[in-house]
Parts: sequence; structure tokens; C-alpha cells
Amino acid sequence: MSEETIFDKIIAKQIPADIVYEDEQILAFKDIAPKAPVHYLIIPKKRIATLNDANPEDQALLGHMMLTASKLATEAGIAEDGYRVQMNVNKGGGQVVFHIHLHMFGGRQLAE
Ligand code: 5GP
Repeated sequence: MSEETIFDKIIAKQIPADIVYEDEQILAFKDIAPKAPVHYLIIPKKRIATLNDANPEDQALLGHMMLTASKLATEAGIAEDGYRVQMNVNKGGGQVVFHIHLHMFGGRQLAE
């Protein structure tokens, strides 16, 4: 089992977050340091440290995270203009919190 992170505390509502979506499997909330006008993090409630630690049994969970990113982009009014979904993996990929999460951001023109 991987180590607890700040995201476990957000899931347990031990520290506050601006939650935009929740169900039994996942949670989505606003990033505390947004890189765009809309910047949400979509996380599984199940603790998985990195994408490298995901198993075939997590396939539906990962798909659910992706489809929720699209749904939340639509609700935020940025789906048609466009947005970005990104998962950083390990230190070299820019991952800082070791509990997998999708970044969904948009609301401005994204470079590259
Ligand atoms: P990573 O670099 O691991 O892909 O992204 C971690 C993200 O989590 C960063 O964008 C950072 O701003 C966000 N973050 C870290 N701690 C907190 C927190 O306590 N609350 C919220 N809402 N976001 C956080």
C-alpha cells in the first residue's frame, strides 16, 4: 500500500477543498494553485500512487475519471473551446502528489 497523501485528507473531508463532483469511486475539486481559469483535479478514492501502479482491474475507474473530466468541462462551459487533460507520472513527469489525479484545465488558450 502506498503512503497517505494530502488527497486522502481531502477525500476524508479532514481538510477543505472546493469539490465540484463526487461519487462512490471518484472526487473532483478545484486545484489550489490553478494554472488556468478552470483547473480541476479528478482523483480516485482508491489510493493508487502513480499510473505505473494501476492494474487491469482499475481500467473502468480510469475511464470513469476521463469521462468525468469531459462532463465537468462541459458543465464549466469550456468543452467546445477546448481544454487539456493531463496526468503527471513520477518525478520526471512532474508528479508531486503521489495519489493519481487527472488535471483538467482550460478557459484560456493553451500553448503547445
Ligand atoms: P502534480 O504535480 O502532482 O501532478 O499535481 C498536484 C496538484 O495538486 C498541483 O497542481 C497542486 O496545486 C495541487 N494541490 C496540492 N495540494 C493541494 C491541496 O491541498 N488542495 C488542492 N485543492 N490542490 C492541491
